[in-house]
Amino acid sequence: MSFKALNLSDPVLRGVQAAGYTDPTPIQLRAIPAVLTGRDLIASAQTGTGKTAAFALPILTRLGAHGRARVLVLEPTRELAAQVETAFRDFARFTDLRTVAVFGGVGYGVQRTELRRGVDIIVATPGRLMDYIQDGSINLRDITILVLDEVDRMLDMGFLPVVKDIIGRCPRERQTLFFSATVPPEIAAVASFALRDPTRVEVGVSRSVTESVTHALYPVAHDQKFDLLLALLGKIDYDSVLVFSRTKHGADKIARRLKAANHSVAVLHANRSQNQRIEALAGFKSGKYEVMVATDIAARGIDVAGVSHVINYDVPEKPEDYVHRIGRTGRAQAVGDAYTLVTPENAGDIRDIQRFIGQKIPELRLEGFPYQPFVARPAQPAQQRGGGGQRPRQGQGGGWSRFGAGRGRR
Ligand code: AMP
Repeated sequence: MSFKALNLSDPVLRGVQAAGYTDPTPIQLRAIPAVLTGRDLIASAQTGTGKTAAFALPILTRLGAHGRARVLVLEPTRELAAQVETAFRDFARFTDLRTVAVFGGVGYGVQRTELRRGVDIIVATPGRLMDYIQDGSINLRDITILVLDEVDRMLDMGFLPVVKDIIGRCPRERQTLFFSATVPPEIAAVASFALRDPTRVEVGVSRSVTESVTHALYPVAHDQKFDLLLALLGKIDYDSVLVFSRTKHGADKIARRLKAANHSVAVLHANRSQNQRIEALAGFKSGKYEVMVATDIAARGIDVAGVSHVINYDVPEKPEDYVHRIGRTGRAQAVGDAYTLVTPENAGDIRDIQRFIGQKIPELRLEGFPYQPFVARPAQPAQQRGGGGQRPRQGQGGGWSRFGAGRGRR
């Protein structure tokens, strides 16, 4: 089925063609007709499934021509707000509809000028939006369509109270579109507060990792993590690699060491200024940087076509983050690889991840890497498969099976 059959307006169809899309993705096939009916929608879909166009295209079709500020899209991060606004603007290029991105970390001047000129679509992060609501630059009384995107991440970032406040300021007569990769109870509560009789769309299972990604665990002693990262970068045939660190400080440190080893590296985390973040992303997209080191929140939802590899330098803290991180590669059916460096301390986290995604991740060993022995934690029983039980245990990869079910946690 093509986009033509989806009842999008002609200018929007031309915008889609210009974006180079030929066939709708599954979420687009299911969500576009639902949004066009004007009904509320709750969709669970990961980024990488094409969900931005799934809401942007029918919204632009419903808006028709330039008028008042009728659409509000809430995003958890500046990067996502910028990216989604760009998508709207691209698809709307053959219409006279106007969009603005509203987010913090940059001056107020340009955003205010655009708001004064009059916009149809506001794509915003909650904090900066509230600033404009409070000083009267934005009024939500004409909003007819509200999009709450990546709601699970809004929850993680502590945005839910302000998001609820914003929802309460929108007219009750409106269409609300709700996107969240996972729907834990707190999110379900927001959905029932914000939505009326929604259509439900679920694409794939929100727990699943993108199918076109092959992934593997690389067990290693803690002290050798960086060496293994370097060795992996030396061995794999990559175009662009996203390296995940749990902490901002860790991300900086990894980046410094990679630079010292002559890699071209960008860093993305919340302590960097907005200009630094823009430069990092643009440089990574253009190929100026081959490696980008990022924290989870900063990397949430960023869309960089052609990320060939994701390396989890640190195991993610939450199982959902594993799915989100891995979703950075293999986007829109491209093939990507995802590697996770794991130390014995991570056994509990890995077990949780495997349970969450419902599959076991194969353990691999990098040929030729000078693995050092590592010592098993004394508290753990010495009954690993194929090991004979003597200590210290050798970290020899392959049969390093601490990550099966039933082990003690952390
Ligand atoms: P999203 O899930 O909205 O972040 O989209 C993921 C990526 O898929 C983006 O790079 C989109 O430009 C791309 N994409 C979305 N829909 C399509 C489509 N129908 N055909 C080709 N690429 C698409």
